[in-house]
Amino acid sequence: MSQGAGGERMQEFIREFVLRELDHDFGEIPLGALDDAAIIEGIAFTTDSYTVKPLFFPGGDIGVLAVAGTVNDISVMGAQPMALSCAMIIQEGFSGDDLHKIMKSMNATAKKAGVRIVTGDSKVVEKGAADGLFINTSGIGKRSGHLDHNIEMIRRSRQFKWNWPNDSGVADGDVIIASGPIGNHGIALLSFREGYGFETTVKSDAAPMNHVIAEGMKVGGITSMKDPTRGGVANLLNEWADKSRVGIRIREEDLPMDEAVISACEMLGIDPLEIGNEGKIVMAVVPDMADDVLKAVRSKPEGKKAKIIGQATKKVKGVMMETHTGGKRVIEPPVGDPVPRIC
Ligand code: MG
Repeated sequence: MSQGAGGERMQEFIREFVLRELDHDFGEIPLGALDDAAIIEGIAFTTDSYTVKPLFFPGGDIGVLAVAGTVNDISVMGAQPMALSCAMIIQEGFSGDDLHKIMKSMNATAKKAGVRIVTGDSKVVEKGAADGLFINTSGIGKRSGHLDHNIEMIRRSRQFKWNWPNDSGVADGDVIIASGPIGNHGIALLSFREGYGFETTVKSDAAPMNHVIAEGMKVGGITSMKDPTRGGVANLLNEWADKSRVGIRIREEDLPMDEAVISACEMLGIDPLEIGNEGKIVMAVVPDMADDVLKAVRSKPEGKKAKIIGQATKKVKGVMMETHTGGKRVIEPPVGDPVPRIC
């Protein structure tokens, strides 16, 4: 289970079983970069499978996740999402009413994001071979004028050898912005599943973030973006620190978090930085542009609680958090998953 959890063990697993066996060094952003999407012949291409349990939860369902998750992985590369596929693995006897509901919410979420589902596949397997319903979505995205402008604005501040924001693009001084409160999706799921009761106040944040990202790129200067899904913000920042070879310092008091999520994390002993989110983006921005990008992100409803949470700096190694009490805490990439099967 830990090899599927999005943390350090999963990275080891991918190196051992995927990168060792597959050619992985072709394309502008190749498979070997292990970024949110690959860039091949100017097209962003990504895929994701959804195994969330239960299929319906406070704030969304597997259909919302399957569209939003793939749209977000395309969008964080700076690409404009164009089209998705939808492949379903359905266990025999699965409710037709539930399938209608899920397909409706896939369609509604796709409309919201401005993408179309244009191809797919369905397989039915016998009882015990699957757990109700699994969905895989793949997606493609293309360059846009906003992306060209974004890259041009980075190059006014410094050399930038890529044509896309990516995990290796963060540099000393870049300002880190979180698009909104963290931890909501994982806490809503866990609480609903285990009956802790927080789900009445905490809902999943699952949503496509491409419009928020487009707004930020209109300002420009975004060097990297990621969605803090499995492994949460802790894993995201460690991936940046590792691939960009720069330290990252964040401040605990600047982390956007809802009160109910803080209480739930304290009660359950879970680190909010390690919880998966499904409708949040973390951005690294060249220092001169950070305030304007923040303003642009906040102008959209999904980004209205966005905050600057820290900065990339050569002065620290790895990821360091200044705590509420003025102490310093090293943020390690999570080993396992505090809340499994949330996406
Ligand atoms: Mg991602």
